[in-house]
Amino acid sequence: MAEKDYYNKLGVAKSATKEDIKKAYKKLAMQFHPDRAPDDKKKEYEEKFKEISEAASVLGDDKKRQQYDQFGSAAFSGGGAGGTSGSGFEGYDFSDIMSHFRSGAFGNSDDIFDHIFGGGSSGSGRSSRAHRGADLLYELEITLEDAAKNTKKNIELNKLERCSECSGKGAAKFENCHHCQGSGQMKRTQRTPFGIFQQTGPCAYCHGRGELAQDSCKTCGGEGAIRKKKKIEVTIPGGVDEGMRLRVAGEGEIGANNGPSGDLYIEISIAEHEYFTREDQNLNITVPISFSQAVLGDEIEVPTIDGKAKLKIPPYTQSETIFRMRGKGLPSVHGHDAGDQMVKVRIEVPKKLSKKQLDLIQKIDEEKPSKSFLEKIFG
Ligand SMILES: [Zn+2]
Ligand SMILES: [Zn+2]
Repeated sequence: MAEKDYYNKLGVAKSATKEDIKKAYKKLAMQFHPDRAPDDKKKEYEEKFKEISEAASVLGDDKKRQQYDQFGSAAFSGGGAGGTSGSGFEGYDFSDIMSHFRSGAFGNSDDIFDHIFGGGSSGSGRSSRAHRGADLLYELEITLEDAAKNTKKNIELNKLERCSECSGKGAAKFENCHHCQGSGQMKRTQRTPFGIFQQTGPCAYCHGRGELAQDSCKTCGGEGAIRKKKKIEVTIPGGVDEGMRLRVAGEGEIGANNGPSGDLYIEISIAEHEYFTREDQNLNITVPISFSQAVLGDEIEVPTIDGKAKLKIPPYTQSETIFRMRGKGLPSVHGHDAGDQMVKVRIEVPKKLSKKQLDLIQKIDEEKPSKSFLEKIFG
């Protein structure tokens, strides 16, 4: 088996710190993630991704790095006198590593390194490692009235929760694992052309737990978790806008092996309103006024998102004039001042008038108080 230069693969110096190695790996792993490969290079990217992951798993682990510096990559390839006893990197689940990158879990960047660098001497094996539960997304439609103030909503989730029957352990009865005498750890001896290595890792039988279940929990079938309906009450802050996501910490799905629960995200959508439209925190509404109200002025009542309010219409108000009612818009989720309500008035032309009313209007027109539009244009 050819000697592999792990430092070269990651493009780091022999003196690189662990941080350097993580950084270099992260960069390369993103670059050569098989998902990003052009169609004709899928195989090439996958190979490269495996190579750098292998290099990182060795160089990122102090003990393995030391062995590598001393004995070279053969110490990890399992291809020596021990035959094909695939140890070292071969057992890694690449689809798992790849999906870590894919899911963006890399934002929490140490997670992936724990994942591939983990195991071995630290004593906590991959299979028994506590994992954070999945985040959940809940789409919630509310009314504009709901968005105008803090509103409590009951929502029902269908999510993985800890089995209460077995407290998440998967069984009621346990006994010490006889494979590892309850320690959860197992020594693994590896023969290589350079000598015999002893590594301690999680017991393969109890997955590092140190105990074995005597019977599977009947409620959860030994999973320790069960899908359940759960109602929770959430407070939607006044001023929320379409598409905003509210985070409810810890209300996601339960984590594996007693890992922390994920979070719940509530994505808000706001139903269309019959009268109001929204522009950020401002509300727009159009209200009709009569011709005489427009000419003479008046005080009218207009709807607001939380009741009625009075609005003064000055004399000689033109149709389509917009009045601003300060503070009558929506509150701010960020604690700023409330928005305004913008009221557009539209002069309504009556649909039917009596003969007397029509005569009066005729009289107004005969008075000709000012030049008509046509006279202004044509003189
Ligand atoms: Zn159970
Ligand atoms: Zn064991």
